[in-house]
Amino acid sequence: MKDRTGKDRNITSNWAKQTQMVRAGSMRSNFDEMSEALFLTSGFAYETAEEAEARFDGRAEGFTYSRQTNPTVAMFEERMALLEGAEVGRATATGMAAMTASLLSCLRAGDHVVGARALFGSCRWLMDELLPRYGIETTVIDGRSLDAWRSAVRPNTKVFFLETPANPTLEIVDLRAVADIAHENDAKLVVDNVFATPVLQRPLELGADVVCYSTTKHIDGQGRCLGGIVLCDKKFDEDYLYPFYRHTGCAMSPFNAWVMLKGMETLGLRVHAMCDGAEIVAAAMAKRVKDVRHPELATFKQRDLAMSQMDRGGTMVVCELSGGREQAFAFLNALELIDISNNLGDSRSIATHPWSTTHKALAEEKRLELGITPGLLRISIGLEDPADLVDDISNALDIAGL
Ligand SMILES: *Cc1c(COP(=O)(O)O)cnc(C)c1O
Repeated sequence: MKDRTGKDRNITSNWAKQTQMVRAGSMRSNFDEMSEALFLTSGFAYETAEEAEARFDGRAEGFTYSRQTNPTVAMFEERMALLEGAEVGRATATGMAAMTASLLSCLRAGDHVVGARALFGSCRWLMDELLPRYGIETTVIDGRSLDAWRSAVRPNTKVFFLETPANPTLEIVDLRAVADIAHENDAKLVVDNVFATPVLQRPLELGADVVCYSTTKHIDGQGRCLGGIVLCDKKFDEDYLYPFYRHTGCAMSPFNAWVMLKGMETLGLRVHAMCDGAEIVAAAMAKRVKDVRHPELATFKQRDLAMSQMDRGGTMVVCELSGGREQAFAFLNALELIDISNNLGDSRSIATHPWSTTHKALAEEKRLELGITPGLLRISIGLEDPADLVDDISNALDIAGL
């Protein structure tokens, strides 16, 4: 049978990633709509009491309640799962809901987690504050050092947690090697893959067990909706994730899932265009600023490792201005096109000062240990013409005295 919509995995798993992003997971209703339907419904009705019982038992296919599954959300989950090469996806209300669910669902008091220290601010809070509060021990290490991962392992270590490239410093962690160390010690590797996007890096293929996204970023990609997703195999889902997900209520709204589905149709095109822009901006900035970071720059310290696990260097450019906070603020305030904001992966370019915003909740010495200095700036490259971005940045560098 033909499946033009994309609901039959026997067919869709053979499609190229680009085709999957446009079509995988789509289901058509009786009205044969072209664009995915938005099922804004909290619940579902049953023909008979027996049917209700069978759906609750899991004997009959079908939906029961949108805290558990919903057709629009299911389409998005299937499209993401196909793209990532995962058996299962569970979409969540935010990226942080995805990170929290992936960790809390499989951990209990007495367990131990090893995390790379360079994590998104709220992920670091989970490690430093939340998990210990429930009797889960955590150790944060320099994720670039394989010896640090090895020596942090304890008999009760259950999970390794990391982000690569890391926000905001672009530190790279060797996914394949860290997955091997995790598995040698019966631990699971959970990866926050937001910066790389599923277009550029697929951690499951490199040995990770669970991949999480904030879909707020490139996957929506147009700055509209919050969302997240956890991707894993059936066993992790059945043993840990789904019971936690359905009973704690971290589900994504169908409206947001619909926006994400539309975002995915252009995800590949947008990420590649943003990478083009990032390469141009990074090369131009490198002529004027000493410390400019983008994984494809020849001066990027972990270039070989980054390019061995990512298809391209990504959409973020990071730099450190020698004049500290004062110069960073002067630069930001002089930008005329690029917005000062804290989101990323948006179609509009955004400049962020992590020291005073996204990472301010971390103690000063922790920020410095992570390389988040008062002069550090993170620029998320959008879809504007790169020449306009270069002009805007050059002008702001002039005004900031660089
Ligand atoms: C934004 C982000 C998150 C959190 O996602 P929200 O959708 O804002 O909850 C987690 N990790 C990384 C790397 C992020 O950039």
